[in-house]
Amino acid sequence: MKRVLITGGAGFLGSHLCDRLIKDGHDVLCVDNFFTGSKTNIAHLIGHPYFELMRHDVTFPLYVEVDRIYNLACPASPIHYQHDPVQTTKTSVHGAINMLGLAKRVKARIFQASTSEVYGDPEEHPQTESYWGRVNPIGPRSCYDEGKRCAETLFFDYQRQHDLDIKVVRIFNTYGPRMHPNDGRVVSNFIVQALRGEDITIYGDGSQSRSFCYVDDMIEGFVRMMDSERSLSGPVNMGNPVEFTMLELAENVLRLTNSKSKLTFKPLPTDDPRQRQPNITLAKEKLGWEPKVRLEDGLKETIDYFRKLLGA
Ligand code: NAD
Ligand code: UDP
Ligand code: UDP
Repeated sequence: MKRVLITGGAGFLGSHLCDRLIKDGHDVLCVDNFFTGSKTNIAHLIGHPYFELMRHDVTFPLYVEVDRIYNLACPASPIHYQHDPVQTTKTSVHGAINMLGLAKRVKARIFQASTSEVYGDPEEHPQTESYWGRVNPIGPRSCYDEGKRCAETLFFDYQRQHDLDIKVVRIFNTYGPRMHPNDGRVVSNFIVQALRGEDITIYGDGSQSRSFCYVDDMIEGFVRMMDSERSLSGPVNMGNPVEFTMLELAENVLRLTNSKSKLTFKPLPTDDPRQRQPNITLAKEKLGWEPKVRLEDGLKETIDYFRKLLGA
């Protein structure tokens, strides 16, 4: 049994990670300021003898005793991270400094939830970990992209300077139950719109593509990375390499929900990447990890979740 701190533990990915680590028999401390996360995501764990919830903002120092840290705290959807962009950068940068300072003091292994956004609007396709990215430093997405890039810098500097045991994963678009219904990300938007019979909002002409990973696959990857040998620090890409256009995603959602919703076309947001697909060779070779859940099956689970949530 390990004492594990999960920052952002009441969020979408964090709450699934809490479930997994409790199931594996660990002692979990979930820290969250509830900016985008919610108590309902972890309500079923409250009262469990090895689960503890703490309201705390990671931009402030945190003194606890743990063996491992998963640093997930950061709003992940464009609507939320652009709501207070200064706070977004602070969360990524000051949050990383505080959690690294904590890891240094207690000699904990520390995991960083980085993102495919560090590649920006990439010229290399699919993206490998050695690609340095093409990121706008002054646009509306920069608070998130550059904040996450700086957090990676801090992780590797703490490793070089203080010999910290770090694990950095670059997460590509992930979806599943407990996504926030107003989160603004494409999978939740399309499902909620389809279930409510509202128009499906396609940004641009819908020919841009993404690859979507189901949450259970992603959590399995996190745990394998955390348990891997010390020499593997990353960054390691994690995501599903199967790519779909937004039009194809909309067609799938309409079919699986039996919805009569129509498509409506809206302007493409600034700096919206055309294409994104992970190269996951490194994760396959070093961790024996690759996604198993097909989009169709993951969408069905997610649709069931939103049906219950919306009473639709
Ligand atoms: P989420 O918004 O559901 O979860 C983030 C959690 O962090 C929330 O519970 C939020 O309340 C909390 N939080 C935000 N700021 C905080 C602060 N200052 N102090 C304490 N808690 C704070 O998003 P998610 O999809 O679960 O993302 C989790 C992590 O994974 C994030 O770091 C995100 O950048 C990363 N990520 C996610 C995806 C994805 O597709 N879901 C892709 C790439 C990276
Ligand atoms: N920190 C923390 N918890 C700890 C230890 C440190 O939150 O258990 C914070 C501390 O406030 C500091 C940051 O982590 O600002 C970085 O710590 P580090 O020891 O690297 O730097 P220093 O304290 O020398 O600034
Ligand atoms: N998108 C869309 N309609 C929506 C929400 C998003 O067409 O209602 C598009 C968006 O422009 C982008 C893709 O879907 O091209 C994925 O968007 P998301 O915000 O989920 O993730 P990210 O852009 O960070 O990959």
